[in-house]
Amino acid sequence: MVIDSAQQLLNAALAVPLQRATTALLARQGIELWVRRDDLLDAQLSGNKFYKLFFNLQAARAQGFQQLISFGGAYSNHLHALAAAAHRYGMHAIGVIRGERPVHLSPTLQDAQAWGMRLVFISRADYDRKMAADWLADLQARYGASYLIPEGGANLLGARGMQLLGTALEQQTGGDYSAVCLPVGTGTSLAGLAAGVDRRKPVVGFSVLKGAGDLGGNVAAFYDALWRDWHEGSFSSPASASALAENWRLISGFHGGGYAKKMSAMMFAFWQGFECETGIPLDPVYTIKMIWGISSLAQQGYWPRGSRLVAIHTGGLQGRRGFNCP
Ligand SMILES: *Cc1c(COP(=O)(O)O)cnc(C)c1O
Repeated sequence: MVIDSAQQLLNAALAVPLQRATTALLARQGIELWVRRDDLLDAQLSGNKFYKLFFNLQAARAQGFQQLISFGGAYSNHLHALAAAAHRYGMHAIGVIRGERPVHLSPTLQDAQAWGMRLVFISRADYDRKMAADWLADLQARYGASYLIPEGGANLLGARGMQLLGTALEQQTGGDYSAVCLPVGTGTSLAGLAAGVDRRKPVVGFSVLKGAGDLGGNVAAFYDALWRDWHEGSFSSPASASALAENWRLISGFHGGGYAKKMSAMMFAFWQGFECETGIPLDPVYTIKMIWGISSLAQQGYWPRGSRLVAIHTGGLQGRRGFNCP
């Protein structure tokens, strides 16, 4: 499937199934959980990453770029999706990867290379200053003019793609849900989704990072920018728009030790149990932490009885190939 317009992306998003996930714990607490299976959006371009890339691809083409460049680790869902997208849209892609070139490429990078992505390995020190202007200029001088996408697709156009997912969710459900949940890395998806759904609906993000800098500040910045654009004209001034309560929340108690850290035996058992009970596969870095968070909060009585929750399955299943059991 090649999606060429926002309308086509919206149509694809409307076709994503909502699947009921019943577990003993949730049933006991009187919580209804529905998982929006965005991992099934497309065989190669799954989860939130295609939403985040879409308007970037459009902008790159509109600005006359043939080549995209971005950054990530060896199991990056973002680089995997970028490579697949570049392949499908007939563009070139360069993936800049943190660390030395390993003897054996990860399955993620093998796929990326097979789709034609050029892999560039850089030292951790260089990686830390990858967004510095002189370093970027040097990169473009070496590999050619490229449209630059930040690590994780974390820019306003990325958030805009996820805003569209929020629009689709409202249409799909007719607004008949209590709250929507998703896992959070950079917060781009949380900001977009919260700006896309009905402003009265809480959007709850579960951070997978331990001590994530100014994550809330990033979310707020994207959210406010989207809200102003999208609802332009509905308010006399941006000041009155921001006077409305924000509908997103960030919960950080369920990172399980931090990003891609070794999983505890307890979380592993929980993961197996959830998959067994629901038949819905999760990834070990992001979606498991969201579901764990939702369930733990249910246990604590955080969600009122009778709540109907929607959890966004943001994908990431390709990264599971690198997972070692505890
Ligand atoms: C990248 C990713 C996220 C985080 O998205 P952000 O927009 O960076 O917060 C969540 N889930 C999965 C599966 C991802 O790959």
